[in-house]
Amino acid sequence: MKIQINEEFCIGCRLCEVYCLVEHSQSKDIVKAFKREAPRALARVHVEENGPVSFALQCRHCNTPSCVYACLTGAMHKDENGVVLHNPDRCIGCWSCIMVCPFGAITRDERGRKVASKCDLCPGRTTPSCVEHCPNEALTLVAEA
Ligand code: SF4
Ligand code: SF4
Repeated sequence: MKIQINEEFCIGCRLCEVYCLVEHSQSKDIVKAFKREAPRALARVHVEENGPVSFALQCRHCNTPSCVYACLTGAMHKDENGVVLHNPDRCIGCWSCIMVCPFGAITRDERGRKVASKCDLCPGRTTPSCVEHCPNEALTLVAEA
């Protein structure tokens, strides 16, 4: 599975970032996530904008994921469903995965011990939070081709 973006419908509102952050917060409550939790959770989707063009950037859960092959510790791995996941406990913050990802979909989490951070397709949810909350249906969850 992966999330597909339709740039035609993305208006750059950044609600995907907001709801991704909330989903990865401790409380999963929008007010608490933004105003009470410290350190604040991180969004794993990032909106890129250039004039009228905007799109949400996140992990493509590649069939042959460069990040997984580059990771020395096994922190970056593909699960039995083909989802590329990151285990922060095994991460040593070497940033090899960031350097090899062709989409720039991995970011640094430097809130404490330095580790990588990326989309996990919201485990426990049928529909990832960004997909559910996009007001324009610019994001869709699709089966890997
Ligand atoms: S992080 Fe990048 S290289 Fe790894 S699976 Fe996602 S898109 Fe592919
Ligand atoms: S930063 Fe972490 S996940 Fe990325 S390659 Fe290094 S150990 Fe693996």
